[in-house]
Amino acid sequence: MNNIYDTHAHYGSHQFDADRDELLTALPAGGVAGVLECATHSGDAPAAVALAHRYPFVRAAVGIHPESLIEEDAATVAVYHGDWRAELDALRPLFDDPAVAAVGEIGLDKHWPVPLQAQLDLFEAQLQLAAELGLPCSIHDREAHGEMYELLRHYKPKGVLHCYSGSAEDAVRLTGQGLALGFGGAVTYKGAKRAAKVLQAIPREAAVLETDCPYMSPTPVRGQRNDSRNIAFVAETIAALWDTDAQTVLDITAANARRIYCFSDVNASKK
Ligand SMILES: [Zn+2]
Repeated sequence: MNNIYDTHAHYGSHQFDADRDELLTALPAGGVAGVLECATHSGDAPAAVALAHRYPFVRAAVGIHPESLIEEDAATVAVYHGDWRAELDALRPLFDDPAVAAVGEIGLDKHWPVPLQAQLDLFEAQLQLAAELGLPCSIHDREAHGEMYELLRHYKPKGVLHCYSGSAEDAVRLTGQGLALGFGGAVTYKGAKRAAKVLQAIPREAAVLETDCPYMSPTPVRGQRNDSRNIAFVAETIAALWDTDAQTVLDITAANARRIYCFSDVNASKK
């Protein structure tokens, strides 16, 4: 299988420290044609951009993840002491870099005890930034559908709601307002009936694939460190739902990813 586009990866995380370059070098031979590497705060953003400079199939997303508001290791806390407005100002010059394709990873997270008003303000500021820059977003929504959908309705950002976990009805509405939805390892897990319904309800032009690596490895490699090549397993699961073959799923979602995050034609020539 080839033409794999991973629209949400974290190769900057420490789980890849031992073999990051070896692994990224091996990805194209494993069928990977594009990766969106997502930063989570100003501390890891320069490395995400550097990765995009080093590997022609990688593009970067730069932004502040809601969890960075409470993570002691995140620059949001360690350097900016919670002053995310100052941190966003400091991130701004990175968006001049042509390797930066999106604002991300941004969003809302009610699973972890992140103060709600702070994360709402931070997310809203970054939606405004994306609109101002004309960039798509890579959006995280964990257990915050109500607040999330209200802001998405208001700002109508372009981009991807990653690891989509909502209902089929909401999926139809969200894709109708121009968002794409990201699907990863979770669709292969037993009991992923909701994701199956979503994938059958939305237009295929609104679906993209992702890892969220190093996490969320699909069956049959669940529990192991994830990487973009494993998206082939996700494509196989979706192929059964779409009544087609896995390569067709990869080709459709590749076209969607390339359109949304402006991957260059150089990557497409790998097909
Ligand atoms: Zn992520």
